[in-house]
Amino acid sequence: MLVSNDIKITPTEKSRINEINWDTLVFGKEFTDHMLVMNYANGTWNAPEIVPFGNLALHPATSALHYGQALFEGLKAYRQVNGDVTVFRPDMNAVRFKESCERMCMPVIDEELFIQTILKFVETEKNWVSDREGYALYLRPFMFATDPYVGIRPSETYTFVIFACPVGQYYSEPVRVKIEEHYTRAAAGGVGRAKVAGNYGAAMYPAKLGQNEGFHQLLWTDGVSHEYIEESGTMNVMFVKNGTIITPTEESDTILRGITKRSVIEVAQHWGLKVEERKVSVKEVIEGIKDGSVTEMFGAGTAATIAPIVKLGYRDEVLELPPVETREFSNKVSQYITDIKLGKAEDIFGWNFKAS
Ligand SMILES: *Cc1c(COP(=O)(O)O)cnc(C)c1O
Repeated sequence: MLVSNDIKITPTEKSRINEINWDTLVFGKEFTDHMLVMNYANGTWNAPEIVPFGNLALHPATSALHYGQALFEGLKAYRQVNGDVTVFRPDMNAVRFKESCERMCMPVIDEELFIQTILKFVETEKNWVSDREGYALYLRPFMFATDPYVGIRPSETYTFVIFACPVGQYYSEPVRVKIEEHYTRAAAGGVGRAKVAGNYGAAMYPAKLGQNEGFHQLLWTDGVSHEYIEESGTMNVMFVKNGTIITPTEESDTILRGITKRSVIEVAQHWGLKVEERKVSVKEVIEGIKDGSVTEMFGAGTAATIAPIVKLGYRDEVLELPPVETREFSNKVSQYITDIKLGKAEDIFGWNFKAS
């Protein structure tokens, strides 16, 4: 089994870190000095290498560009208060990546190898992990089919890459979402559970329509009846209703199995709160906001972390949720998970993986 010491590193000649303006960082627009690349051919993964960040050369018939065998993951590295650099729950991303690969008929990457590549890469880029409040290093592992072949069949060659972006907060203001009742993000039996590139391309047009109406994101509903809430953009969605934490069940294969959401659930259960993962109807949420039983609504995702939702568009109405300062649970859980990531609270769940 390959270990991280076997990863060959070709360092960049000159780091670009001093060119970064940390005050004006835009999410996903700045990149670190290196990337990790690993190629699959002849039925096996070749040894990963860390090389200077740069363009990839692609054959015009590159299979992924035509037929969409392309997946990604997203996770973050943090600078702890003692100076250590840690990655939040990469073991969970490793499992999800593997499941996505299987669904897309792509070769899996052994979970341990996935974690090792992440940790070694973050160690290489550790100077980019800022200790500024709210900052992190966003990691983007992804994989795509590279056969130069126009026929439709699973590719026989693939490329896996990890690059990283120093990032600040994703949403700088509370979020406004709109319930979508016409377009569908994911259908039962489809690929909604996998972090497949095409899911996001397909969502852009409906999301744009929502943005034209002043919403940041859509709140997707099920593709059959549009009566049940699924998730929002790149976040899972959670509610607090009469003190119970409620979130749509992942049992259907139309919802991405978010690690942030899972972490919130695990903390809530640890605190002895009641958590329900079940079908959540649009009707229940609308009525609950109107009668005051739904006191909190928020998105949960790596990029946005915990994003309070303050406005919910539904048909011709825009419902207001209680002010963010009144939200006991989401504020507390958000702070606690942040404290764990930064080493300010004890990591009792074993979520931090040390990179350096
Ligand atoms: C990545 C993603 C999420 C959030 O998952 P995390 O593991 O918490 O980052 C939720 N929904 C979709 C569609 C996503 O792509």
